[in-house]
Amino acid sequence: MSKRELLASILERTGAGTLLRSAPTWQGLLVLNYHRVGPWPTTVWDKDLFSTTQEGFRDQLKFLKANFDVVGFDEVASVANKRGRHVQITFDDGYRDNHDLAFPVLTDLGLSATFFVCTGFIDKARVPWWDELAWMVNHAQAGNRATFRGLELSLGDAQQKLAAARRLNALYDRIAESERASFLDELSQAISSKRCTPVDGASLWMSWDMICALHRGGMTIGGHTLNHVELSRFSESEQLVEIKGSCQRIEAEIGAPVRAFSYPYGTPHSFNSSTRIALTDAGIEYAYSYSGGYQGRTGWDRYDLKRTPVEAHHSDAFFRSMVSVPRLFA
Ligand SMILES: [Zn+2]
Repeated sequence: MSKRELLASILERTGAGTLLRSAPTWQGLLVLNYHRVGPWPTTVWDKDLFSTTQEGFRDQLKFLKANFDVVGFDEVASVANKRGRHVQITFDDGYRDNHDLAFPVLTDLGLSATFFVCTGFIDKARVPWWDELAWMVNHAQAGNRATFRGLELSLGDAQQKLAAARRLNALYDRIAESERASFLDELSQAISSKRCTPVDGASLWMSWDMICALHRGGMTIGGHTLNHVELSRFSESEQLVEIKGSCQRIEAEIGAPVRAFSYPYGTPHSFNSSTRIALTDAGIEYAYSYSGGYQGRTGWDRYDLKRTPVEAHHSDAFFRSMVSVPRLFA
């Protein structure tokens, strides 16, 4: 158990968490970020992309609704500088479970969330590298052990496969763009696994009909680039194509302007001053990063609204502490 998990469980067990929630320990806007909702222990895709199960999502939303002001994207501008503890729910990438499992819960509870979709995933049913990597490890025929680029990988049981996928994921993250093209082919040789086909990826993403249903149901649809690129690696004109192109693609489908955007990868290094120019050009009002934290009542950067990830391995106590005392946990 991590130190923060331990502290969270003590706060909840001793009742200090309830006390902190009744005293206004923070003011402003806390934006939570989800990727996937569903039965993550049995998935062959990237487990770390799951934020919670459908039941867990319902419990979290009920808790938020009882203790905070849950706001949709349309209310974000009006809560800047305002007293109160506001929470916004967001989802990245466009996974199908967002429509099938999260949307019904949001509708049931009368809440609005913002869904940032990568249009290339929707249009081409592309399997992203992190999901393909996990899928390959779960379909490895190499036996209990394999060596790849200096990594000794144990592939015996589900736990070892999860650890192997995490190590490979971290390695992929570190290598240069030019080395990435051959990475998955080499891995497929090393662990004796097939590569994914578009058929394998066909059920991963929402369809445009599903995205339009979210929009009609009171959800906000935002941009997340055409090809899920780390924008700062590209020129200003290339960034504009990725940002404006994805927003125009969404606008053509939903028939309404796109005003929100989230940065793929979302670290402080994932976007730069050229990105900000491109966002203005594309008519984006707020852009969201993904490296923790929250907005106080004042001093917001509208092209760097902080978001905090919700992750499936967090306990209920951690989730409650994170939203109750974001200064310590978010
Ligand atoms: Zn993403």
